[in-house]
Amino acid sequence: MVITIDGPAGVGKTTTAKRLASKLGYQYLDTGAMYRAVTYFLRKNFIDISSEVHVKKMLDILNLELDFTSDDEIKVLLDNVDISTLIRSKEITSAVSEVSAIKAVREKMVKIQKDTAKNGNFIVEGRDIGTVVFPDAKYKFFLTADYDVRAQRRLEDFKRVNEELNVNKIKQDLTDRDQYDSSRKLSPLKQAKDAIVIDTSTCTIDDQVNQIFKHIERN
Ligand code: C5P
Repeated sequence: MVITIDGPAGVGKTTTAKRLASKLGYQYLDTGAMYRAVTYFLRKNFIDISSEVHVKKMLDILNLELDFTSDDEIKVLLDNVDISTLIRSKEITSAVSEVSAIKAVREKMVKIQKDTAKNGNFIVEGRDIGTVVFPDAKYKFFLTADYDVRAQRRLEDFKRVNEELNVNKIKQDLTDRDQYDSSRKLSPLKQAKDAIVIDTSTCTIDDQVNQIFKHIERN
């Protein structure tokens, strides 16, 4: 079974998905990490992303693996090298929206996401999971939060990977990414009609997880 969690950056999707997965005995899939990995791969190879031909050629040789063996984190491997931390840098964060709007990139990632989750119990989190990737999922959640709260959470994320950024720069990045992700033609960030909306502005992670858990138990 698949449970979907969508929403913009900084609402706590990944932490919620991880905790919920461990509570339910499911695996979790962070699809943002996949788009970040492709962004890292294209930048590392100096690919001009305005060229569909070049991007497609690179996607054909992309060797991306998700390692689910660790209890806590999924590891993202590119050519067998763990890039899980590298993909969280501010450089990749600023570049990822443009890459994830490319049709060939989305087609490839969505196929991997469907194939990965089809034979198991997964919490899948991203932007288009309840609308495009798993539109028939029984449980769909859409998380939101105030800008200030989201920016503060992102600041903490960057500290974890040892990057210094000021909060105004982070707010600008969130605004730009939301704008880009919500207005793109393909699979924009959007709440599925049948998703339960959870405003996480004043919630702790435990609250968020419990709200979702209770909803699943009741239904
Ligand atoms: O969730 P995270 O901030 O890591 O996502 C990084 C980026 O990946 C998003 O800003 C968005 O451009 C892209 N993304 C997407 N579709 C998804 C998940 C992420 O386009 N399902």
